Amino acid sequence: LWTGARSELEARVGTHNYVTWLAPLSLRAIDGGSADIACPTRFLSDWVSRHYARPILDALVHQGAEVERLSFTVAAPSPAVDTRPAELRPVDSIPRAVASPMPATAAAAAAAPAPVRAPLRDEEMTAPLDARFTFDNFVVGKPNELAHAAARRVAEGGHVTFNPLFLYGGVGLGKTHLMHAIAYERQTRDPQARILYLSAEQFMYRFVQALRERTVMDFKELFRTVDLLMVDDVQFIAGKDSTQEEFFHTFNALVDQGKQIVISADRAPGEIKDMEERIKSRLSCGLIVDLHPTDYELRLSILQSKTEQFRLTYPGLRLGQGVLEFLAHRITSNVRVLEGALQRLFAFASLMGREIDLDMTQECLTDILRASDRKVTVEEIQRKVAEHYNIRLSDLVGPKRVRTLARPRQIAMYLAKQMTSRSLPEIGRRFGGRDHTTIMHGIRKIEELRTEDRSLAEDIDLLRRSLEA
Ligand code: ADP
Ligand code: MG
Repeated sequence: LWTGARSELEARVGTHNYVTWLAPLSLRAIDGGSADIACPTRFLSDWVSRHYARPILDALVHQGAEVERLSFTVAAPSPAVDTRPAELRPVDSIPRAVASPMPATAAAAAAAPAPVRAPLRDEEMTAPLDARFTFDNFVVGKPNELAHAAARRVAEGGHVTFNPLFLYGGVGLGKTHLMHAIAYERQTRDPQARILYLSAEQFMYRFVQALRERTVMDFKELFRTVDLLMVDDVQFIAGKDSTQEEFFHTFNALVDQGKQIVISADRAPGEIKDMEERIKSRLSCGLIVDLHPTDYELRLSILQSKTEQFRLTYPGLRLGQGVLEFLAHRITSNVRVLEGALQRLFAFASLMGREIDLDMTQECLTDILRASDRKVTVEEIQRKVAEHYNIRLSDLVGPKRVRTLARPRQIAMYLAKQMTSRSLPEIGRRFGGRDHTTIMHGIRKIEELRTEDRSLAEDIDLLRRSLEA
């Protein structure tokens, strides 16, 4: 029944909306005319009950279910039953009734009370917010702590201290995530606030459409009566003269009314080409914060946090710290790629029914790893290690088994595995034709030792840094 309803829902609301909002749901039970739907998070259940109650109800009825109303329960989807004790689970995954069964029509009505100033309707919001992009899911580290703090401040509302907040940084560093998080947080604190989030591209599209349909007054009315305006990727309107003009006026009108504005771009205001000077200087009036490229520590924390989330979906699967460290070292481009890699690993592991180890990681991510390969070679690693321990390169790869050589050799093997995409046999060949099991043994040894031996761990870190430089 639910399978049928799902494909019908997908057809009704479109694949994108379906994937974003409805795919994580499952049907728990139908009882006394009420269908109980499980949602993995509180936010998702709120959103779905407000926006998708009708289509879900229709789809169920259409599939032959005798249902008149829906209720939502916050619970991990059934294949992902979280077996940890309740206090160890993320708050949102603790099953709890969100609302007593409520007729879908009432749910819809509750979403749109008749306040003096109605919150924006769905189509006015323009871009659907991504339910995963909350502050809770945002991992804070050195490179993004300022941006995060500023976003938090804006989300709190209250007195406008800096206007606009201008967030900038390279692709995949979390600008859009932070903006969505601001929207959620602000809306939660103040359900009546009119919050408008959209990309600069959508701003332009709507403006052009308003010109064409002669509804510019409505357009102005909409944009000038919001409490919080967020425009993502503003560099997009560079060179688009009339859109820039309109943006400038909108911007000024809101600032004059003391309304908060948040802007993002891929670079600092002054660096945006083909943007009018007066706009650039306006954009620079508030607080400008950049999201720096991620560092190793931040990538590792992000991976750890996402792994926790994945473990809810794939409860049986484990991913060792070694794999996470490997990913954090090797995938440095942007967080989106990092997430994609992790997602693929979990999916792959669950299909193969295998534990995720370093070997499988490399096999499964060959393409991603190759693309972000730092081109460190096994030979370079060997040279560096030999130099560091003051031994001859020929001894390092040679057959002698004395301890003063064996340890550096194992470290070199370990680094070769971590820093290059060479397979174990390939590494073996570069270590004087050693067997791949010997290489594996060496790597294991170092993995063991480095957790207990601090100075060894520091040595390895130092070597890695100098190789990366
Ligand atoms: P941008 O808009 O800067 O290009 P996004 O906000 O779209 O980047 O982020 C890309 C992906 O990386 C998103 O899935 C986002 O959730 C994730 N991401 C980025 N930074 C973080 C972070 N600090 N913590 C958790 N996830 C992050
Ligand atoms: Mg973005």
